[in-house]
Order: sequence, then C-alpha cells, then structure tokens
Amino acid sequence: MGINAISGNTIITDVQTSSLNSQKETMAGSIWQETKPNEVTAVEGAKLIGKGFIDKAKNIFTTIKDHPVKTLAVVAGTAALIAAAPLIGVSSAVAASVLTLGFAAVAVGKTVYHAVDAAKHEKNEEYDELRKDLHNIGGDVLDLAMTAPFIPKALKTVKHAITYAPAPTLTKISSLKELGQADLKIEYETIANEMGFKTKPKLVFEKINPRFAGEFEPVTGTLKLNSTYTNIAPKKMFKPLIRHELEHYKQFSDIARAKGVDGLKGVLKDYHLEIAKHNGMPQYLAELSKNMVQENGTRFNTKFYEAVVKEQGTLLANSDEAANAQIYANGFMQKITTQSQQIIEAVETIKKTHTGTSLLAKINMTIAQQKAFHKIYVANPIEVPAFAAQKAYTKAWQMSPDTLTTSAAADAITQ
Ligand SMILES: [Zn+2]
Repeated sequence: MGINAISGNTIITDVQTSSLNSQKETMAGSIWQETKPNEVTAVEGAKLIGKGFIDKAKNIFTTIKDHPVKTLAVVAGTAALIAAAPLIGVSSAVAASVLTLGFAAVAVGKTVYHAVDAAKHEKNEEYDELRKDLHNIGGDVLDLAMTAPFIPKALKTVKHAITYAPAPTLTKISSLKELGQADLKIEYETIANEMGFKTKPKLVFEKINPRFAGEFEPVTGTLKLNSTYTNIAPKKMFKPLIRHELEHYKQFSDIARAKGVDGLKGVLKDYHLEIAKHNGMPQYLAELSKNMVQENGTRFNTKFYEAVVKEQGTLLANSDEAANAQIYANGFMQKITTQSQQIIEAVETIKKTHTGTSLLAKINMTIAQQKAFHKIYVANPIEVPAFAAQKAYTKAWQMSPDTLTTSAAADAITQ
C-alpha cells in the first residue's frame, strides 16, 4: 500500500544498496561519534528523498516511451484544453481549481503522514522503515509539483487511455468538461465489462433531479449521470454510483428475460400509468409517462431489450432468477404507489416540526428531509440490492491502491 506500492521492488533494492553505503559511512565515522550501525545519515537521507523523486519521474517517462502514440494524443488534448481554458467558462475553471486544491491537499497530507512516520521510525531506531519514509517523501514532492491544474488529471487519463480506450476517442477531447466525461465513460465501460455486459445502456450526462447523482432510465435504456455534479465532483464519487445504476440495468434486463420484451414494456406501462396520477413529477418523467400511456410507448427501446435477451438468454419460469425479476417489477411499482406517498408525508411532518427561520434551521430541515427520504427510498426491493452492490464495490475499490493515488499522478500511469 502507499504511494510507492508500484515500485515496491525498487524500494527494496534501494534500501539494500543504501544500507550498505550507510554501513560503510558509519564504519568510517564511528570512532568519534557513537553512530549506531545502519543509522541513516543526513547525506543518505537527502539521497533517498532525491531517489524517490527520480524513481517516480522515471516511471512517467517510461510510460511515455512505451506508449508514445496514446500519450501524444492525451498531451495534445491537454495542450488544446489549456489553450481553450479561457473559453471554457466559469464552472469548468472552478472545477479545475477544486480538483487542483484537492490534489494539493492529498499530496500535502501524504507528506505530513510520511514525515510523522519518519520521525517515529527515527526515534525507534527503525532505520529501514525510515529509509522507506524518506523515499516516499521524495515521491510526495513530485506529487506536489504535479498539482498544477490539469496535469494530474491528464496523466491519470493517459493511464486509462493506455489500458482501455482507443486513441481516436482522445483526439475528440476539447474541454475540461469533456475530458472529465471521457474519463467517466472509460470507467463506465470498464465497470460494465467487469459485470460481463456486452450490451450496455447508453451513457448520457444530463441535468436531472438534483436529489440524484445518477439514474438508470428503463424505458429508453439510458444511464444518466447528473451533469450538475459530474462537472465539478471528482470521478471517485461516480464509480460506485455507476455500479449501482448498472445493478438497476441488470434488474430490468432480468424482467425482460423472465417476462419477455413485451412483458417488460407492460411493467413499464403500468408504472407510468400510476405516475400519470401524481402531480409534480420531473418534466422528462411526465413526458415519458405520456408516451408510454397515450402514445403507446413508441419511445420504449424494444431493440435494446431484444439485444439484452439475446445476449443474456431467457429465464426459466420457475427459476429463482425469474422470481427475483418479479420482486424487482413489484418493487419498481411500489416506488410510486406507496413509497412516494410515504416520502411526501415524512417530508410534511418534518416541515411542521422544524419551525425555525434562520439559515441554520432551514439547512437542518433540509438535512432531516433528505434523511427521511433516503430511509424510505433505500428500503425498496430494487434499491436494496443496488445499494448492496454499490457498497461492496466501494469496499473493494477502497482497498485497491487506485484510491490512494488520486493525486499521485506518476503512480496513476504506472500501476
Ligand atoms: Zn437506485
């Protein structure tokens, strides 16, 4: 773990070499000063920090050397992006600053962490550990140097590009917003591939209800990420969310596999018939309902679900999976028949009990309403497995070195 996990072998070699050097130096000087064997001298310490820096930088250049075409595509994209920065507009500029500050904060945080460890290890005379700390601090210094706007993001994109994306995708990138979205598209493809899906919902970035960061829209087979947030929030927030929404895709796929494509269309039509009875639905949902109910569902994506069933196969009538598919269909309906009413009532109750007019009181009321909404929402039979999948994904992902290297651009391209 840690920022140099990728060059673990290098560290061990370095430590071995350094420790030999140190012993030589120690022997030479040990007559007059009580230097303990294997102690780290100031000169060696400085060398270790420098070595950490150089090793990390070396990794960057190795990647560029090994993957020149794709790197060039990203670098060209980044150059175009920086040139276009004044044209991009305020929100992207703010996003860039937020990202940069975030990267800098993480880099500084890691330096402090390694420095505290270094002091501790020196005190305890754990010199090999101290050598690793110093090496890490060298890497941190490069992280800090890399916190110029765009650079870490661009380098991270190089890594992803090399692993997953065809080069032509990258040449289309023309703004910071698009760079961020291209990055998320790559994550989306990766997660969907990991789940074994060849047929995938269309991914779009759209300003949806601010209560949701994303959603799977089953009528058209579209996975939406809320552009209000994707333009400013870091990608790591969205990876577990993508996993969550893809679980919903799986649920609707299972309904189609159990009941047939027309069966799914019927489930969606019933749901939208129920929606049509409720006021205050988001505009696009109201439009979809009108289409499903009055225009006989011309926007229902028959082709998409036919491809899904062809790819994943039909479910046997008495199988557990078919039974689950029925639970999903019922849960989806429950969202509108009972749960939306429960949510409205809970929100009204909170309005009555939170009577303060100060800003703080209003904020507290909003938080209480959100909590009440969430509590009812997560209990739905289609949300329970989606949140479970999201949680499991977050847990697995937090354990991977990837999360530790958001700021460590060099690591990002060498893992
Ligand atoms: Zn959900």
